[in-house]
Amino acid sequence: MTAVAPLTDTLGRVHTNLRISVTDRCNIRCFYCMPDENVRFLPRREILTFEEIERFVRVVARMGVNKLRLTGGEPLVRAELPKLVERLASIPGIHDIALTTNGILLEEQAQALKDAGLDRINISLDALTEETFRKIARRDGLDRVLAGIHAAKRVGFEKIRLNAVAIKGITEPEVVPLTNFAREHGMEMRFIEFMPLDAENQWQHDQVLSGEEIRRLIEEAIGPLEPAARPDPSQPATDFHFTNGSGTIGFINPVTQPFCEDCNRLRLTAEGKIRNCLFSTVEWDARALLRGGGKDDEIAQLVHDCIRAKKPGHGIDSSDFVKPERAMYQIGG
Ligand code: SAM
Repeated sequence: MTAVAPLTDTLGRVHTNLRISVTDRCNIRCFYCMPDENVRFLPRREILTFEEIERFVRVVARMGVNKLRLTGGEPLVRAELPKLVERLASIPGIHDIALTTNGILLEEQAQALKDAGLDRINISLDALTEETFRKIARRDGLDRVLAGIHAAKRVGFEKIRLNAVAIKGITEPEVVPLTNFAREHGMEMRFIEFMPLDAENQWQHDQVLSGEEIRRLIEEAIGPLEPAARPDPSQPATDFHFTNGSGTIGFINPVTQPFCEDCNRLRLTAEGKIRNCLFSTVEWDARALLRGGGKDDEIAQLVHDCIRAKKPGHGIDSSDFVKPERAMYQIGG
């Protein structure tokens, strides 16, 4: 393989972080991500095998990708996920493997994931009340998510992050309890602004509960926050510490404070399409090369082509914004 140049785009952003969706299937139906009923999932033969994912990662690792995040859909519904983690952990150049999960199957799988070499876990937790959880997820499961969070801690994962999508009119009463819960358990709470990536095209700007509004709610109820150091400029969250005690709160504000200029992420969808942005309307087909006898150089060139076409920003707030046809569960969050 000759094309080992770093994945630098036309604005000089160097891409070292790959998000891999391992499935579009999920065991809940969050309204901001998926349809409720009659979801048309990809046929299994269209989903990349572990061998194909591993080969793709070996190629991009030689181009400087060193961090991976497994996501979906719900990654833990993919059979034998720890085996994929083990394969990826053995790839030279890969220093950090993380997982984003809804936590429902985590209690059963936490130990195997840890043993396989998973470094970090983010667990989605939008609400601590059953009613709100069900309103968002349109399924039951809060007790299992909480069991999953405790299991992750028990088996030794450190720096566990809890991610909550913030939705105006729904999650305001959850903000303070979630923050207190995370602090009590030594975890970082992260609030994510609701992005226009729902499957039912219901997103409205006025449903976005902004990071600023959430910060005010937390400061009024708990105490002042001060900005934390920002060691990695490409991190999507702006972190704050409490001045009156321990605890870190992160705000991911893609709608009100886009962070595209420091973005170093690319994505591989479950069926092997490469994307340079969550909001991209174009994809590059790695599976065609992986299954069609493509050489590593050709895969590398395809990834370069994708990165070179990256736009300066997602443009959610611009008048010519086009919502991607695919919803979040089909892309990989
Ligand atoms: N199923 C896993 C989970 O729930 O964490 C992984 C996939 S999920 C798509 C990844 C993250 O994206 C979750 O934290 C989820 O809440 C978030 N997400 C999904 N749709 C979103 C949207 N429209 N706006 C903001 N965040 C969203």
